[in-house]
Amino acid sequence: MAKPESDLMDKIVSLCKRRGFVFQASEIYGGIGNTYDYGPLGVELKRKVKDAWWKAMVTERPDVVGLDSAIIQNPKTWEVSGHVGGFSDPMVDCKKCKARFREDKLADARCPEKPSKRPGECDGELTEARAFNLMFKTNVGPVEGSGSVAYLRPETAQGIFLNFKNVLESSRVKPPFGIAQIGKSFRNEITPGNFVFRTREFEQGEMEFFVPPAENDKWFEFWKAERFDWYQRLGIRPEKLRLRTHDDDELAHYSTGCADVEYEYPFGWGELEGIACRTDFDLNRHSEASGQDLRYFDPETKERYFPYVIEPAGGIDRMALTFMVDAYEEQQLEKDTRVVLHFHPEIAPITVAVFPLVKKEGMPERAEEIIEGLRRAGFSTFYDEKGAIGRRYRRQDEVGTPFCVTVDGDTMKDGVVTVRHRDSMEQERVPAAELAAYLAEAVRSWKRPA
Ligand code: ATP
Repeated sequence: MAKPESDLMDKIVSLCKRRGFVFQASEIYGGIGNTYDYGPLGVELKRKVKDAWWKAMVTERPDVVGLDSAIIQNPKTWEVSGHVGGFSDPMVDCKKCKARFREDKLADARCPEKPSKRPGECDGELTEARAFNLMFKTNVGPVEGSGSVAYLRPETAQGIFLNFKNVLESSRVKPPFGIAQIGKSFRNEITPGNFVFRTREFEQGEMEFFVPPAENDKWFEFWKAERFDWYQRLGIRPEKLRLRTHDDDELAHYSTGCADVEYEYPFGWGELEGIACRTDFDLNRHSEASGQDLRYFDPETKERYFPYVIEPAGGIDRMALTFMVDAYEEQQLEKDTRVVLHFHPEIAPITVAVFPLVKKEGMPERAEEIIEGLRRAGFSTFYDEKGAIGRRYRRQDEVGTPFCVTVDGDTMKDGVVTVRHRDSMEQERVPAAELAAYLAEAVRSWKRPA
């Protein structure tokens, strides 16, 4: 029998495919190693996670601006940042089955031939560890050769450092301030896995927060608390989250501190986001290598200095997976089991579904009018007129739609609709004219059921 925790991941993977959240990429050609595409509901979930991140990190902050830098930068970027020389994982090969593993993650790995055993504990012998660079190489322009080699970025952060001066000169910012961006990063992971937790192509939400060096510790504490809290504000259960401070021997040589927000996944605790002190390492190095002075000049103190940097860096795909895993519940009801995703309404792919009770007596037309009004008010909506009403509710529960609105015979007489709540399954009668305001308040005041 499958272990309960792996069972939960299997259920989520199957729900993702069945309901159009996540598909295997290039599936008709047999896929391509742990690469995924997001379907109609998955793309909405991810978009809403990104919107919530951007809102908290940029829109609602007076001290952070946004950026969208290129994926392929001048290759010098990655030499100077240390990625060409040092962005590698220790890799071992199995001499028998030729499979490759990360030496530092052997405890989580399984022999592909004997999945009950770990690599090296089967009959296969492992090679000595070798450094394997995780960057994807490509060629820019029509001629291949050493002069045209470039890399797909393995993190979005460097694009921010390269634009530090541009942002300073074009915007009215001064330390402490941040530059944030969301975008794709690429890492040729030796052992991707656990569905979209670790893939070779993924999206990151990163923010570099530049501070006067003396304020480093204060801002490190601030961003650790803020990022830890953000997940809880969006409904993640606090008992499933922890903040793990890195030991000194885990820190990069230039770093003065790092902490990870970790989540307890069905496969164990894993990093969801890192908050790192990068000091002035990157600006200093890029300044030296480019010959451009990337120091900040403080007009008040007449001092020129390299700000220190606090970096909250999270994976958007990992966030989406975490919201999904955390939201999933199978509820034992009197007659059957109900699968429900308790998404925070702000990140639910569909906020409100509208149903005519039956496909006649003018109800579909009235429901269409109502849904059109909700769309114009900015809600993500879904219309469904097929099947018994109870089954339609259940289909929405399974994809995490917090509210369903039903148009019935009474609506046609008195203009009042039924609003059914996903979490409590309670129903309320609400005048159609007040529906948009009612739903906006319900989204705002939502609390995760205990
Ligand atoms: P790990 O130890 O899991 O390899 P990392 O410490 O190298 O991650 P960072 O470089 O700090 O990760 O990247 C910041 C965030 O980007 C991580 O917290 C994670 O959410 C996300 N991330 C990193 N690698 C991947 C990946 N291969 N697939 C999906 N998300 C990733």
